[in-house]
Amino acid sequence: MGSAALYQAAKRGAKALGIDRFDPPHTLGSSHGDTRITRASIGEGEFYAPLVRRSDEIWRELEAASGQTLFHESGGLIIAPPSADATFHGAGDFVEASAQVAERHGIIHEVISAEEIKRRHPMLKPRAIDRAYYEPGAGVLRPERCIATQLELARQGGAAIHTGEQVIAYDASADGVTVTTNLGNYRADKLILSAGAWMADLVPEAYRAALRVCRQVFYWFEAEELGAFDPKIFPWVIWIGDRLDEFWSAFPAPRDGPRGVKLVTEQYHTATDPDAVGREATAEECADMYYRLTQPRLQGLRDNLIRAEVCLYTVTPDEHFVIDFHPDSERVVLASPCSGHGFKHSAAIGEILTQLALNGETEFELSAFRLARLSE
Ligand SMILES: Cc1cc2nc3c(=O)[nH]c(=O)nc-3n(C[C@H](O)[C@H](O)[C@H](O)COP(=O)(O)OP(=O)(O)OC[C@H]3O[C@@H](n4cnc5c(N)ncnc54)[C@H](O)[C@@H]3O)c2cc1C
Repeated sequence: MGSAALYQAAKRGAKALGIDRFDPPHTLGSSHGDTRITRASIGEGEFYAPLVRRSDEIWRELEAASGQTLFHESGGLIIAPPSADATFHGAGDFVEASAQVAERHGIIHEVISAEEIKRRHPMLKPRAIDRAYYEPGAGVLRPERCIATQLELARQGGAAIHTGEQVIAYDASADGVTVTTNLGNYRADKLILSAGAWMADLVPEAYRAALRVCRQVFYWFEAEELGAFDPKIFPWVIWIGDRLDEFWSAFPAPRDGPRGVKLVTEQYHTATDPDAVGREATAEECADMYYRLTQPRLQGLRDNLIRAEVCLYTVTPDEHFVIDFHPDSERVVLASPCSGHGFKHSAAIGEILTQLALNGETEFELSAFRLARLSE
């Protein structure tokens, strides 16, 4: 979100400085792991549809400006039984929710039966009661490239970038904002804060407890035939079971990515400290991912872990984002847009944050993302 905002600020001619305690793109926050799912129909809530639509335009603009491939169209399948208990990202019956949003927004899609899923993708093994929402225009973004491209274009547009520098405090008054880092002080007209899993350190006390950080793991398993998972023929799969702990997802494998198939699940029961989080996947976690979650439903993978990475969700109680002004000063704009599905919206969120900072307003509807709800 920070790289997106910096790109947008530089594009508008603002004198902008981006500060990061690490050196993005890096593997310590929430935006690494080679691929991110994107889809036009957002079952998490209809109010996200304009964000992903605008982001898609910006990804294309970035691809044209940089010559980089940031998006692979693969199609996407959301598989779930017809049950309100089959929840995902806070929404029940995610297949139905996605189909309804698609209907209302004219998004090309189908709802297909278990038989049809197997006919199209024989390596998938749905149960008879499962069905799927299929969106042919969906695909995967390359997050590290999206970040690096936006930073590079921001730099070319005149923005300064300070990495390895940590924001410790900030103070907004009538005539400006002072930002204190471990290396010095800065004066600015406006400040955008998008610290990902470290956001709780930078928001007022009343909101801290509402930003829970949950450790997640990406796994890449060896494929019997990696070409079978090429984005041209294998869609991403969001597989929602009868219970929350049965969710898993498989990603298409771009040719220039890691030499395995990426799998991920989610957990919300244990919160963690982003500075003390375990960065290694355990043998139990790898076995659970392969044997319990994936093996009964997906053929074509070997029990051979090629790589694993830990990633962090920042989750609010209603699982929606925060995009708002600071409660004490409109000179400070806050963004905590994760809950496991923020990347696809990040290009537009960067634009929104910049509009809020530079113009004090945006044409996007942000009422679902107000900070105040977190203290209620
Ligand atoms: C396992 C996993 C799977 C996901 N899958 C998807 C998906 O398929 N599709 C999708 O759309 N989204 C997905 N997401 C969500 C998405 O990736 C995140 O919403 C998004 O990348 C978060 O971006 P961010 O800018 O908020 O956080 P980050 O990218 O982590 O950025 C925060 C930055 O702030 C810096 N920082 C923190 N504190 C300070 C400080 N005090 N001073 C200076 N710098 C600081 C950090 O170094 C970091 O670079 C997934 C997330 C995870 C973890």
